[in-house]
Amino acid sequence: MATPREPAPGGGSAEALTLALSPLLAPLRYAARVGVAKLSSLRQLESLVARAADAASPFAGSRAPAVESLAAAVQGFDRAPEPERRAALALLVFRLSALVTLPPDVLALAGPATARSPAPPAESPRAPAAPPPPPTRAPPQANSPPPAARKAAPARPAPGAIAPGPTLRPHEPLAAPVTALRGVGPALGELLEKKGLPTVGELLLFLPRRYEDRRRPTSIDDALPGVRSLLVATVVKGREAQGRRRRLEVLVRDDAGAMLWCIWFHYRQDLMRRLVPGVRLLLSGEVKPGFHGVGKTLTHPDLEVLSEERAGQIALGEVSRGGEDESFGVVVPVYTELEGIAPRTFRRIMRRALDENLGSVRDLLPEGLLARRRLLGLREAIAEAHFPRASADEVAANGGRPGGQPHRRLAFEEFFLVQLGLALKRRGTKIEPGIAFSATPEKVAAAAQALPWPLTGAQRRAVEAIAADMRKGEPMNRLLQGDVGSGKTAVALCAARLAASDGYQTALMAPTELLAEQHARTLRALLQGTKLHVELLVGGLGARERASAEKTTRTGAAQIVVGTHALAEENTRFHKLGLVIIDEQHRFGVLTRQSLMTKGHRPDTLVMTATPIPRTLALTLYGDLDVSVLDELPPGRTPVATKVFKDEQREKAYAVIRRELLAGRQAYIVLPLVEESEKLADLKAATVERERLAAEVFPGVPIGLVHGRQGAQERTAAMERFRQGLDRLLVATTVIEVGVDVPNASVMLIEHAERFGLSQLHQLRGRVGRGAAKSFCLLVTGTSGAEYGKTARERLSVMEETTDGFRIAEADLELRGPGEFLGTRQSGLPEFAVARLAHDQAILAEAREEAFALIERDPELALPENQQLRRYLFERWRGKLSLARVA
Ligand code: ADP
Ligand code: MG
Repeated sequence: MATPREPAPGGGSAEALTLALSPLLAPLRYAARVGVAKLSSLRQLESLVARAADAASPFAGSRAPAVESLAAAVQGFDRAPEPERRAALALLVFRLSALVTLPPDVLALAGPATARSPAPPAESPRAPAAPPPPPTRAPPQANSPPPAARKAAPARPAPGAIAPGPTLRPHEPLAAPVTALRGVGPALGELLEKKGLPTVGELLLFLPRRYEDRRRPTSIDDALPGVRSLLVATVVKGREAQGRRRRLEVLVRDDAGAMLWCIWFHYRQDLMRRLVPGVRLLLSGEVKPGFHGVGKTLTHPDLEVLSEERAGQIALGEVSRGGEDESFGVVVPVYTELEGIAPRTFRRIMRRALDENLGSVRDLLPEGLLARRRLLGLREAIAEAHFPRASADEVAANGGRPGGQPHRRLAFEEFFLVQLGLALKRRGTKIEPGIAFSATPEKVAAAAQALPWPLTGAQRRAVEAIAADMRKGEPMNRLLQGDVGSGKTAVALCAARLAASDGYQTALMAPTELLAEQHARTLRALLQGTKLHVELLVGGLGARERASAEKTTRTGAAQIVVGTHALAEENTRFHKLGLVIIDEQHRFGVLTRQSLMTKGHRPDTLVMTATPIPRTLALTLYGDLDVSVLDELPPGRTPVATKVFKDEQREKAYAVIRRELLAGRQAYIVLPLVEESEKLADLKAATVERERLAAEVFPGVPIGLVHGRQGAQERTAAMERFRQGLDRLLVATTVIEVGVDVPNASVMLIEHAERFGLSQLHQLRGRVGRGAAKSFCLLVTGTSGAEYGKTARERLSVMEETTDGFRIAEADLELRGPGEFLGTRQSGLPEFAVARLAHDQAILAEAREEAFALIERDPELALPENQQLRRYLFERWRGKLSLARVA
């Protein structure tokens, strides 16, 4: 522990840090020597760590969070049971290893994969996680239960195995078509394939939606309608009824004497023969009220005919396992129903797939990590996720919803792999040289002073962080996050001025033409009287304007070029592009962003987003970026009073608008843009609404119209009329969502507010409250559509309660899920099969910590234990991220 791994960045003294943490070395050495079994003799580690961390924190510099996290690793250590102490110690050592160099014996406490022992591979204690799969299709442990397979696989020596080379595909058996499974013929195979489950591997990762506890029977009297129940009953009589539809009716009686009719409309003849009076049955299904409301019925129950021996066991109250196909006496998985495949058949297929192929599943996660984070092995996690055995009680206690350790493990892996990609990407951008701007303090001060108002504190901090990034030789990669109206444009302008003063151009890319126009106008106004030229480059320009804009961009006559994705197009060339600013990044595909970047030589990048992105999402989307937050609004903003109105109350909303119009102010009326493909209908709706308002609601008031079908010129003209006050009302589809700044507009009425996401409403609302007058946002809900109703109103009430963009975003994410939160078909967001972004924040934080630490230790993924990961990442991210370092 004598030398730090590298000089602590951020001003902390590395030697002092090492020294302050050195009291931890002795107890850790002790633990390493006596072995973890004797850890109980390690006393008061918790307080020792806390003291050392306190002592170290003044020297930690930018590593302060890492130092603080040391104490958290051993929280509750002195009282914890042994396995937890072991894991805590592993985590402590792991975190410590990121701060100081540890001797190998101590490092080993973090688990095998963390130990960076220089031992030659032959002596390495880390055998590959599993031998390469045998070439034959049937694995040896085909019929053994999963736990045995799990234990057997790592222990079994690989007979004459060569290390899996890049040509050996470790996942081969899992890539076999589902028809390779016994019992899955071409017809079933086709059905599965149609559902997106063509291979065994994909099948294994198709996880249950929920679970059903079929371990404890209820009596017929206690069975609630609408809930699936487990019953034990004896057949009284059966008959085939010939009503309108042929059906089989079987009367059964439970041990308390209560009766119930079971009904089948589709059945095989042998079912009738099996259900003779006196036979004992296990039944599972949803009990419904009987004919004419008398008694109870059960339609198409899942059923097991009990052998005499099994019937005897079950009389004792709990159903044991061991029926014909384990459909009873266990917690049963419920999968999203696949048309044409009975649930029971599907379970059987899944069982077989697991039994025959689990042995081929390989764990990508290093062993040390699994131990440290107390994660299940991948095989166990998959097996348990499908058929909970060890975690059955956990699942049952969770009301049958997915969760618990199997879920944690699988979600962890998903997050971990994404975070690894991000960590690599971040490293990739950091180590290659970019532009070192001068960005001197004098220039920064001059840029700020050129603005008509002083920067807010948050703006100043952001500008300084950006200037520091720009000075460095490595390319800037920063996210500027700030609520609507927080003043991101001014920050962007300061950065652009810094670039311009070194002779570099800035490209500002916005998601819509309207927003690009607005940015260009704002920047031009703020730059009036200077020599800096702002060019606008959007798709809606006429041929001549376009050619001229391209020319000023190419020759460097324009220092700042504002535009849409047109900036990233093939024929747009820059003279000397040094800074790329992207507004509302998540609307752009990764490729658009990258093609813009390639127009300069590793330009600095600043991403601006007005959507307050909840932390989980931010880490997933922007985990490779540094972040500045504008958490302070410029002075002089007035809070927007928000109220939800039902359709029949709309007159009240109009009354507010009339009052404001009378006071000389202006109002927006926003209509939802239904679909990109329905722009025509959208145009019609907007036109009709404007006519209606003019004729029936606000006669004599000049009303403007902005919609998605307008060309750039027409739209600009309409906006200009409104800005100048010629039009007092503006009817608009959501094209005004971003980028409109009319201080005299004090009201916004939003039609069909229930169709908008909360964050979108928040953005829209930010368009008013920009002047001195008190402002209003009126949310009118529609009368039709499934979304309208109690939940919609509950959702909208969040808007009445708060103007905090982050709170709104969290609520939105919770209510709508990440896909919709960001708008459909997001290009930037990886899809997770298991992880839930809104709920699994803690898992994400752990995964992120491990992923970034791993890349710090092994930046090129060169260590043998990381080969699987390396190969996997390469396959997964190829073409999506510029992972030069991995390739
Ligand atoms: P954002 O892009 O973050 O939504 P803008 O950059 O459009 O915010 O700024 C919102 C409004 O606040 C603009 O009218 C701008 O002129 C004004 N503004 C920005 N910074 C300041 C400041 N420091 N002091 C006063 N007004 C400011
Ligand atoms: Mg803005």
